[in-house]
Amino acid sequence: RAKDTGRERAVWFDEQMHVDSVNRVAIENDLRHALDRDELLVEYQPAFDLRVERICHVEALVRWRHPVRGLVGPQEFIPVAEETGLIHRIGELVLARAVEQAGRWAHVPDLRVWVNVAPQQLVDREFPARLAARLDRAGLPAHRLGIEVTESALVACSPAGEVLEGIRALGVAIAIDDFGTGYSSLARLGEFPVDVIKVDRSFVHDLGTPRGEALVAGIVTLARAIGAHVIAEGVETLPQLTALSALGVDSASGYLLARPSAPGHLPLTIPTEASFRWRTGLHPAVAR
Ligand code: C2E
Ligand code: MG
Ligand code: MG
Ligand code: MG
Repeated sequence: RAKDTGRERAVWFDEQMHVDSVNRVAIENDLRHALDRDELLVEYQPAFDLRVERICHVEALVRWRHPVRGLVGPQEFIPVAEETGLIHRIGELVLARAVEQAGRWAHVPDLRVWVNVAPQQLVDREFPARLAARLDRAGLPAHRLGIEVTESALVACSPAGEVLEGIRALGVAIAIDDFGTGYSSLARLGEFPVDVIKVDRSFVHDLGTPRGEALVAGIVTLARAIGAHVIAEGVETLPQLTALSALGVDSASGYLLARPSAPGHLPLTIPTEASFRWRTGLHPAVAR
């Protein structure tokens, strides 16, 4: 009996894996054409500075408008792009769009646009020079741009370390994304120039439990020690926002505040919506 169940499960599992690999090959094929057909687009999600009560950060998030599948999220195609090397072209496209958009937001005070960069991109020694040229051409001050890297990029070490130093030397900010979910050691963190630590939404989700609060408090303490700011991601409820504010987190983003959207919607509707939430006294602990 146990054996039968085992076999059934094995068969089911194989079929599942087959579907996944077929799906993967389909994605890979289509992704090659997606760039030529201009099917990729970039949405933007703001993060709010909890003290000045303004949007100071906007994260660029890539999407794929697939002719058949509809809007496909990055979780479905970034891993494929990383495996096939297409990530370099996609990465450059997102950077180009984000730099262009950051230029259009030049009138928004203290706004920085953040771009996610894959570990593979940081192995490319020409990355900083190309970025410098891009900023130059666009006339964008470097402090208007930030690069988000995950801990795995730090573990990859040299030449990623050198590339990060090169990016930072331009005046472009560096953030560690999804902090606490990877494998970086604390020692390693001290080796790299880090401006912002982004608290992963799994920690935000655990707020309200003693363990969750302690973890976020620990990340804030660590960030202070290395002179980094803290942005919490994935804030979906008011109690989470209130707790983050009390814990000394600098900025927050999440569906509670704004979903990722087309850039045109950001400068007008989102600040209005945010100030509405901010000023209605919906969250007295935050409006200090
Ligand atoms: P990430 O950089 O950690 O981005 C945050 C993700 O959380 C985004 O998912 C965002 O839509 C989602 N999110 C924001 N607020 C909330 C919330 O309140 N609740 C929940 N449940 N989710 C929220 P998205 O857009 O699907 O992106 C997923 C990941 O794909 C990103 O995680 C990032 O690692 C990667 N990614 C996105 N764009 C790019 C890109 O241009 N290049 C590279 N290399 N990776 C990218
Ligand atoms: Mg990110
Ligand atoms: Mg993240
Ligand atoms: Mg992520």
